[in-house]
Amino acid sequence: MKAEKKRGTGAARKATGSVRKDNPNGVSSTNRANGTVDTRICIVGAGASGMTAAIAAGRRIGGRHVLVLEKLDAPGHKILATGNGRCNLTNMACENAAWTREFFRGLGVFTREEDDGRVYPWCGDARAVQQALVSEMERLGVRVRTDSAVTKIERQKDKFLIYTRGNGDVIRADRLLLACGGKAGPKLGTTGDGARLARSLSLEVKPLAPALTAVEVYEDVGSLKGIRARGKAALYYKDLKIDEETGEIQFTAYGVSGICIFNLSRKMVLPPGKNLKDGFDDYRVVLDLADGLTIRKEDFLGVSEQNLLPLESVVRRPLAKRILEMAEGDPGRCVELLHSFTLHPKGLKGWDMAQVTRGGTALEELDWETFTVKKVPGLYVSGELQDWDGPCGGFNLQHAWETGFAAGEAMAESVLAGEGRIKE
Ligand SMILES: Cc1cc2nc3c(=O)[nH]c(=O)nc-3n(C[C@H](O)[C@H](O)[C@H](O)COP(=O)(O)OP(=O)(O)OC[C@H]3O[C@@H](n4cnc5c(N)ncnc54)[C@H](O)[C@@H]3O)c2cc1C
Repeated sequence: MKAEKKRGTGAARKATGSVRKDNPNGVSSTNRANGTVDTRICIVGAGASGMTAAIAAGRRIGGRHVLVLEKLDAPGHKILATGNGRCNLTNMACENAAWTREFFRGLGVFTREEDDGRVYPWCGDARAVQQALVSEMERLGVRVRTDSAVTKIERQKDKFLIYTRGNGDVIRADRLLLACGGKAGPKLGTTGDGARLARSLSLEVKPLAPALTAVEVYEDVGSLKGIRARGKAALYYKDLKIDEETGEIQFTAYGVSGICIFNLSRKMVLPPGKNLKDGFDDYRVVLDLADGLTIRKEDFLGVSEQNLLPLESVVRRPLAKRILEMAEGDPGRCVELLHSFTLHPKGLKGWDMAQVTRGGTALEELDWETFTVKKVPGLYVSGELQDWDGPCGGFNLQHAWETGFAAGEAMAESVLAGEGRIKE
């Protein structure tokens, strides 16, 4: 990979490899006179899907015909944060999980399956995944410009003019892939630019909302902060059960968190006409904190503040105390509360905490095999910028690898179809 940087840190340089200039004799050349850089393929965003696309295209037509523009100071910052730093890169429940494992094996990354089909790099370090992608781009000679946030894109006949902040050149590309993600995790580079750029190219973008995030509740749960309980969480809208999830539930100062709550948050859509202030008032989260345990009111006859057993053998002490208080000492009510501890959502934690974006480029606008924008020839969209989101467990990265790779191959094929064999 030829990392092209006007400025940047040593750390970024380490991550992106040695800095080399464009090959002036190559097809993708820099016209320094007017500050225009021509490239066959330009990819906006060096995240999971952008890097996979660059690799797929680079393998087909040579990396020097591929230019990747990344807003941050190094490619793949978000990958390092995934799976709590371990990168849950796919899930065996995904149709193409085997393909993903094979793809990474080909890059030198062994993987292992853990609970619930989650797949991680064998070493349990996300850096292995990020480094493997960066090394492969480097091997192929893909050009990457970091510190290059794309601010504007214009259509010029059958080409795209791409303007960046931090680098004076204008990029002129035959094919363009928007792989700049959604709005979740803004500190990792994703602040909604993709949606704005897509709209500027007249694509329909479904409203963005944070998903896979924690739920704030009206009840005062501050004293339960830090408690983790295994159980079942069900989401209701009015009297309708929308979904339920089993797993670890974490109490926080403001509400509840944990993977099963994150998954339910995907289903908490603001009803039409409602706003964030009271829009979630018709939802309820009901926790079964004794899921699978047979309990009767007789079991709790002797329970008191001084003797919380057996209540505290089911849930941790502060939660046992809270349940006893709420039950006003009534053993039957204790049983009810253990099986249906009800919380009333006030809202969802926002973009900083969300792992994924709901909404994005309308799927109807895309060809579902190549991820070409049907109405704009030469334009492609991959990854989280599409109106697609999955649950926790490796599904979102799987989507990013898969759509990125398909778009990369399709761009390369379309370049080849248009021009026959590319001159070296
Ligand atoms: C904390 C956290 C943990 C997660 N853990 C997991 C997990 O374990 N498993 C899983 O499957 N999913 C996980 N996800 C979700 C997953 O990381 C994303 O769905 C996936 O990375 C999306 O890939 P992408 O390439 O589409 O976008 P991103 O990975 O977000 O990459 C987009 C890239 O585009 C760049 N960019 C943005 N705007 C511009 C611009 N204007 N110009 C140039 N570049 C731009 C960004 O800096 C970024 O590098 C997690 C997300 C978060 C936030």
